[in-house]
Amino acid sequence: MHIIKIDLEKCIGCKECYWACFVDVIRWDDAQDRPVVAYPEECATCNWCELSCCNEAVEVIPVNPVPYPEPYPKFAYPASYVTS
Ligand code: SF4
Ligand code: SF4
Repeated sequence: MHIIKIDLEKCIGCKECYWACFVDVIRWDDAQDRPVVAYPEECATCNWCELSCCNEAVEVIPVNPVPYPEPYPKFAYPASYVTS
């Protein structure tokens, strides 16, 4: 599950992160007038909430249980590993 951190000390309640999230991850707490991370398991790590925040209060930390493969594995692209 990915981690979405919202620094409520920095947050000014502009709602941009809430509007930015195209899935259900960030919801709005009407009582506190602040965003709340409701469904982090649905995060697509698009980073749009982080980029939308005018006050750098949102941080998306991808957590991938399986590491990404090497983009150019040596056995398939030996030429890319040649150094001179
Ligand atoms: S990274 Fe994308 S999917 Fe995840 S909480 Fe932010 S806007 Fe929503
Ligand atoms: S975009 Fe940033 S400042 Fe605006 S509500 Fe979200 S966390 Fe708060």
